[in-house]
Amino acid sequence: MVDTRTQEQRSRIMASVRQRHTGPEWAVRRLLHAHGLRYRLHSKTLPGKPDIVFPGRKRAIFVHGCFWHGHNCSKGRQPKSRLEYWGPKLRANRQRDEWAVAELGRLGWESLVVWQCETKDPEALLEKLWVFLEGTKKTDRQQ
Ligand SMILES: [Zn+2]
Repeated sequence: MVDTRTQEQRSRIMASVRQRHTGPEWAVRRLLHAHGLRYRLHSKTLPGKPDIVFPGRKRAIFVHGCFWHGHNCSKGRQPKSRLEYWGPKLRANRQRDEWAVAELGRLGWESLVVWQCETKDPEALLEKLWVFLEGTKKTDRQQ
């Protein structure tokens, strides 16, 4: 196929791709990649459009921002001001998250939520990912 996009269009596309792949999701991907766990990205056909998927294993990972998805941590606390504005938005996000996990389960997929704050501790996060994907602790395996 001939790529008829102009240079400008292409760089705009690249910029949007870069934007989507920053922060916590990138941290998770780096860990997976470094340990040979091969994934696919942003499945548009699965409920909730999981960020990272393992089609062969039927496992999906959501990387959630603590604030936006209402994590039970210091960053996930509800804002004190303009609650009438934020409250319904954050509640809708949580409901959508719950729905996605339930729908995936119905289709035979297992889901894992990785919280933004968990990416601050890569060792613990790797254990969590490994248990989810391999069913065993990574540290057990190495012995
Ligand atoms: Zn958190």
